[in-house]
Amino acid sequence: MFVTMRTGSTSPVADSPFWRGDIFFALAMFVVACIAIAYVGRHSGFILHGYGWGISAFFLLYGIFTITVGYPHPGFGHVSFDRVAQVASILVLGPVDAAWINGLASLIYPWHRLFNKVPLRSVIIASLHNSGMMTLVVLSCGLLYTHLGGPIPLTSLDLATGGLLLLLVLSMQLLNDLSMMCLIYLRGSDPSRLLNVFSTGVELTSGLMAVVVAIVFVRLEPVVFVVLLLVLSIGMLVLKQFAQMRARLEFLVEKRTEELRLKSLELEQQATHDKLTGLFNRRYADDYLQREIEATRRHDRDFTVALADVDHFKQINDSFSHAVGDRVLQRISAILVERCRKTDVVARYGGEEFLLCFPDTNSEFAEQICGQIRKAVERTDWADVIGVGGANTRITISFGIAEVNDDSRRTGILSDADNRLYMAKHKGRNRIVV
Ligand code: GH3
Ligand code: MG
Ligand code: MG
Repeated sequence: MFVTMRTGSTSPVADSPFWRGDIFFALAMFVVACIAIAYVGRHSGFILHGYGWGISAFFLLYGIFTITVGYPHPGFGHVSFDRVAQVASILVLGPVDAAWINGLASLIYPWHRLFNKVPLRSVIIASLHNSGMMTLVVLSCGLLYTHLGGPIPLTSLDLATGGLLLLLVLSMQLLNDLSMMCLIYLRGSDPSRLLNVFSTGVELTSGLMAVVVAIVFVRLEPVVFVVLLLVLSIGMLVLKQFAQMRARLEFLVEKRTEELRLKSLELEQQATHDKLTGLFNRRYADDYLQREIEATRRHDRDFTVALADVDHFKQINDSFSHAVGDRVLQRISAILVERCRKTDVVARYGGEEFLLCFPDTNSEFAEQICGQIRKAVERTDWADVIGVGGANTRITISFGIAEVNDDSRRTGILSDADNRLYMAKHKGRNRIVV
């Protein structure tokens, strides 16, 4: 199992300049790998065990296949099964051939991403880095294994060989992860996510699979080998299917959760707000008043409310239309919100009646705010809201103001305000009674 870099178009690399640290690192890995393979190859020779080009081509294709059945893991980056092909080819062909074959597989594999609109830069880095890294990892760890006496081709297992195989797989993973961490660090991400028990476990399992593949290849008839590869490949494909299914499910759950969140926000908005004006509704205002009056009394603070009612609103409906009346209510609501402070609560309390709540405010100050609103409504030019005849229309609003005192309950303060509103109407409208 092998963790490759993420190269999705959302990667920060997509927006960064071409020549940054990560591309130099990838290029350096590739050049060093080419020099190393040429040097070691010259001294120890290629096609070490005489299987010929056909077998090299087979391991190349198998290598590409095992990278292809990789899948993106939500926690551990891209996970693939190429360790099976790498270790198996070391154990069958020796480190030199295994190194260039797997390096070539990693060089070829990333280019298909261009079809998925992955930026060219990311593809070049993935190709050069993975190829260079794979060549160096397979070569160095394979040479270490043979140097310590590990048998090639592998035909049987004993305790000492088992230990050497374990060393081979672990050293490959260590080098692989070190290189990946360098690259991830150079791209400005956090490399620590690479180190985890999951990857180590799967690397060891892949190593075990590779040992079986190598022994069967060397010792049993080709038919048995092909059957083994078929079974393993089907297993890998099934695992990939499960991983993709899980990814799709996670995506679906995330999408649904977001939809539910938006829906509940919408429902909450509907439950507490008036549809026409967008102001708080009566239900919200009543709950708010109850809470706020309790708190006001407990902390001995000021709290003032004002009931506002549009004067002769029925005439506006009758003279123009109900739709015009609606637009007038919307405009008046906007004026109320504009003139009140952020901490005040403005609610539509009835048809053309509004409740204004002023926490930490005495009735004198509330009267000033209401006075500004009254003047603003009186001076509004209704031409654009009402249309023809709107320019000459004058709309006014009356207020009844009440302040919380020691014995006022919610209905108490509201009925005080309502009585004063009635007085304002009685005295001729377009006025404030405190
Ligand atoms: P006053 O100065 O005494 O308050 O007179 P008024 O005409 O404003 O009072 P009244 O209570 O007689 O009329 C209120 C009108 O408001 C009656 C009703 O049709 C209208 N109304 C209530 N809700 C809405 C609404 O949502 N849209 C419109 N366009 N009109 C509404
Ligand atoms: Mg009215
Ligand atoms: Mg009314």
